[in-house]
Amino acid sequence: MNPAQQPSYEDQAELADVIAQLRTRPPLVFAGECDDLRDKLAAVARGEGFVLQGGDCAETFAGVTAANIQNKLRTLLSMAVVMTYAAQVPIVKIGRIAGQYAKPRSKDTETRAGVTLPAYRGDAVNGYDFTPESRRHDPRRLLETYNSSSATMNLARALLTGGFADLRTAHSWNADFVRSAPVNERYTALVQEIERALAFMVSCGMDDEAMHTVEFFSSHEALLLDYEHAMTRIDSRTRTPYDVSGHFIWIGERTRQLDGAHVEFLRHLRNPIGIKLGPSTTAQDALALADKIDPDREPGRLTLITRMGAGKIRTVLPSVIDEVMASGRLPVWMCDPMHGNTFTTDNGVKTRAFSDVADEVDGFFEVHEQCGTWPGGIHIELTGDDVTECVGGVGELGEEDLGERYETLCDPRLNRNQSLELAFTVAHRLNE
Ligand code: PEP
Ligand code: MN
Repeated sequence: MNPAQQPSYEDQAELADVIAQLRTRPPLVFAGECDDLRDKLAAVARGEGFVLQGGDCAETFAGVTAANIQNKLRTLLSMAVVMTYAAQVPIVKIGRIAGQYAKPRSKDTETRAGVTLPAYRGDAVNGYDFTPESRRHDPRRLLETYNSSSATMNLARALLTGGFADLRTAHSWNADFVRSAPVNERYTALVQEIERALAFMVSCGMDDEAMHTVEFFSSHEALLLDYEHAMTRIDSRTRTPYDVSGHFIWIGERTRQLDGAHVEFLRHLRNPIGIKLGPSTTAQDALALADKIDPDREPGRLTLITRMGAGKIRTVLPSVIDEVMASGRLPVWMCDPMHGNTFTTDNGVKTRAFSDVADEVDGFFEVHEQCGTWPGGIHIELTGDDVTECVGGVGELGEEDLGERYETLCDPRLNRNQSLELAFTVAHRLNE
């Protein structure tokens, strides 16, 4: 069986040359950092932490600008502040960033005005412009994927240890949000409470390193096996393989076949691994995948990212959780409230409703409460900019507003205000 969702390159010699170059490139992340994240995820699985994973559906090469990266990080950090305060446990911050350049597609081709061309598969594979030249699968793009990931990672590391992540600054972004948007009074009250807590800490002289720096991890879907394989190195300490293109990698809903090439490849890696589970997942599927990816039941190794849709989560998730827990496993349970809630408007625009996203998150908390398990985190598609891609939320964006600033090349993302609003709703649930 051919691996699912792979590009078809015309020139195999060109691909071989690219792979040879990638093999010699320095790692983007270190094996020890992946181990550190695995330990943190083990704590999350035990209920001693919560994960915030977020970023674009598809990063683009053109999107590798300081402003864009900074805005995304700012949004994630602002979200993390309210969530930390509410949960009273550490928030593990993971970006869908510095590597999320390849997309699985449900159709191989796209037709516009009678012309059919290969579908856009992310900047790692081909261009978005609707011309035969741009849509050609080009292996050289894998080198640009590495370079873009590297530039993004470099800026993220510098910002997050260089003052940008100061807790009081991140808090002030939330204060701006509740001042400028017509939000629920509860959120304003929460911001004021955090304000007082911070002032208290400062007057007590608690002004250490932890106030100024943030530990941050990168993640992406491990889709293109040529790239992921070329970026895999044997760690000199442990003599075991790590995919050094990102700390956390996940297998998508379309490539998680038990006997498929993605599962086979990822099961050999030491990175912490996520698996997306859609609405048709049975408890048996989840168990079989868990056994294959994590046969040794290693703490923090496995994250199950459920994306069932607001309408299905309350009926599908309970039996999956019950059977996985009955088998004695302790995975991180994460909620992706985006991918089960996509719809197309009458005008043909792909969107998501903020109310559905919030409802799936609510359902996730409800089901875990019923099952007696710990809701370990959320996985969100977001941007730091004021785009108009999802309807609803504080700005009450309607379908008629979507044309204004619809910039995603793939799935619709929450804009900055919608992301912060979601963080406040999660904070509220964590605080109950
Ligand atoms: C994604 O995370 O962008 C994605 C395609 O998700 P899924 O595999 O869950 O459909
Ligand atoms: Mn997506």
